[in-house]
Amino acid sequence: MKILALLAVALLAAAQQTPPKRPGYKDTPPIPEQKWLVHDQDRPYPRQITPGATPGAAPSDAIVLFDGKNLDAFQSRKGAGGWKVENGYAEVVPKAGAIFTKEAFGDMQLHVEWASPAKVTSGDQDRGNSGIEIMGRYEIQVLDSWDNPTYADGQAGSIYGQWAPLVNAVRKPGEWQTYDIIFEAPKFEGDKLIKNPYVTVIHNGVLLHHRQKIVAPVAHRAVRPFAAHPAELPLQLQDHGHTVRYRNIWVRRLRGYDQP
Ligand code: MG
Repeated sequence: MKILALLAVALLAAAQQTPPKRPGYKDTPPIPEQKWLVHDQDRPYPRQITPGATPGAAPSDAIVLFDGKNLDAFQSRKGAGGWKVENGYAEVVPKAGAIFTKEAFGDMQLHVEWASPAKVTSGDQDRGNSGIEIMGRYEIQVLDSWDNPTYADGQAGSIYGQWAPLVNAVRKPGEWQTYDIIFEAPKFEGDKLIKNPYVTVIHNGVLLHHRQKIVAPVAHRAVRPFAAHPAELPLQLQDHGHTVRYRNIWVRRLRGYDQP
């Protein structure tokens, strides 16, 4: 009897040490091209994050680059603080030059809001021109494209000099607009490009590019070859001589699936 009692205690202790069984299965077929079974019990859970409280607000795992207060996350070749910050936005100071992040980024999700000047004084590329220069060399065009004829691969939301946006989703001059951008950095082996960059662009909630292949670094009236560069580089905002405004800029580094 005593032995049985001891055995019962030992079994109970062992049961208490066994971690609770996770929901899922181990008797299901493998998912094609994955290492997991269908509904695999052992598959890692995704990280829990807190989404922004309102559409466009930064989620908990975002790196906030500009929240309306200061441009401390940025620098310029002409010294820090080259652009004006007031009323919760940053404004290009013409000839101050581009500003670029102190931190470098590769694969990322980027949210940025911008407004072209409310007062229209010119046209074509000389109107509300700025740009989201990813890695300092792949430009998503910022332009006042409201009733403003220009070449298609240079209008707002174009991958400048390469791809016109699927639609013109621009708002009127002076109105705030959103870009949500998902970018995959290129890969190089030595000097050789082995994977092009790809980009998805959503403008004011409307799809402009769906994982589009970027075929060259940005250029004006030219096609430039790729030049090998690091896996991460600063994000740059262009000074094209126009007082374009920016606000609510945040970025998330992208990670692969199954990385808790
Ligand atoms: Mg531009």
